[in-house]
This record gives sequence, structure tokens and C-alpha cells, in this order.
Amino acid sequence: MKITFLGTGAADWDIKTYVHGEEFRRYSSALVDTELLIDAGPHIYHFAENEGCPEILSQVKNAIITHSHWDHFSPKTILRLAENNPGFTLWGDSACLRALQEVLGEAAAVINFVELPIGETHDIGGYNVTAWPASHITRDPQEESRVYIIEKDERILFYGCDSAWIPSRTWNAIMRLKINLMVLECTCGEFAINDWRSFDHNDIKMVENMVDVFRKYKYFAEDVRFVTSHMARELHPDHATVAQSMAAFGVQPAYDGLELEV
Ligand SMILES: [Zn+2]
Ligand SMILES: [Zn+2]
Repeated sequence: MKITFLGTGAADWDIKTYVHGEEFRRYSSALVDTELLIDAGPHIYHFAENEGCPEILSQVKNAIITHSHWDHFSPKTILRLAENNPGFTLWGDSACLRALQEVLGEAAAVINFVELPIGETHDIGGYNVTAWPASHITRDPQEESRVYIIEKDERILFYGCDSAWIPSRTWNAIMRLKINLMVLECTCGEFAINDWRSFDHNDIKMVENMVDVFRKYKYFAEDVRFVTSHMARELHPDHATVAQSMAAFGVQPAYDGLELEV
């Protein structure tokens, strides 16, 4: 399994300020191999069109959605995927369907949506995908925001954007898994320690604490690596500085376009 980061930013990155060649983070999203998309926010085609890979989304068959916040979930982007990619299916909480219908009206009917309940493993295009609760809420009171476990060929990816810490139900479900790559969100960087957002998002100290615990008790696979995404523009310094501070506790911040073998 390969993961490509199409976006690594939180919701405060403004695409209008993008300048080609300058450091920039789009809204967080990732592509597993060429077929499975995690989150379909409004910037994913901007990545394709500006990073020299216009066809990168052309083989996407399924998209799994973490939650319906607009930086992760764009009905217009999803409609474009459904119209361009034959057989495209969208998976997530039923809040996604409500949001599609609210924004797109009748046009939402062309989107094949399948509800993915928490705790059930589904074969999604050859990947075993399980959703577990995130500590993160949206304006839809019935929505269960989620993190994902994605398994293929005995390799396991954890994708956890957005969530503060790991809720105990989720922890109990994942603690014995041989996870090989863990993507943790880190909205709040060194400019926002002990921040009000840390009830819905991680800060850099929370990431350090979690990773220390994982290593102390040898959780997950022997080769497990830790990567951060969903980093806010105003709450982190530049990427090189973030990379240097996270290297001190063995974590790599992702950047748009980073590809990693899981
Ligand atoms: Zn977000
Ligand atoms: Zn969110």
C-alpha cells in the first residue's frame, strides 16, 4: 500500500494565497495507491492540476470520508468524482448524504453513497476498512466523526484527521493491531500549546505524548512510523522547522505530495 498526501493543512489555509513553488498546504486528504481516497475536500483537484499529476484522481473508485467539515468534504468535488469516475462510490456517516442533498439537491442522486457504520469492517475495493470514533464533532448532531483503519496485504494504515487524542473505544479496538503507518492530526503547533482547540484537535505536545506511550509499551508493528497531517497555517512555523522539532520525538510531518509506502 502506498499513501500520497494530497493535502496536509487545516481549515485556515486559503487556496487564493497559493503561489506555485512556495510552501503551501491544501486541506487534508490522502490517496491510498491510486484507487482509495480519504476525504474529498475542495482542494484535491487543485493538487492534481498544480503538482504535475492531472490524472492522479482518474482511477479513484472509492472515497471514505472522516467527517463532513467543509475542509474534508466538498459536495462539488464529490459530484465531479462521481461524474468523471465510472463506478465511483462514497462511504461514510449518513451525515454525508444529508449534506450532499442539502448542497446539491437532485444532482446528489448521481452519487452512489454507502453508509459505513462505526466498528464494521467492509471490503472497499480490496481494502479492509473499519471506521472508529474520533473525538471531533460537526454541526450535524447525529454525525459520528471517524478515524479509519485500512488494511491490505497484511499492512495496516491508521488515518486520524480530525480528532483530539484517540477516544477509548477506538483505542481498545486498535491497540493490538500491527499498525505500520499512523497518520495523526496536529492542528496546533508550537504557536498554540494549551490551546482551546485541543478538545477537538491535537497539538504538538499531545502528539509527542501519544507517540511516547506507543513506543514505551511497543504498541503496533515493529516498523511502525508516525506522520502528522492537518497542520494549521497560523499555528505552526515553516515546514523545515516543524520537521526539525518533530524529529526530536521521531515523528515526520507530511507535506503535500509526500508519498510513503505503508
Ligand atoms: Zn479539518
Ligand atoms: Zn473537522
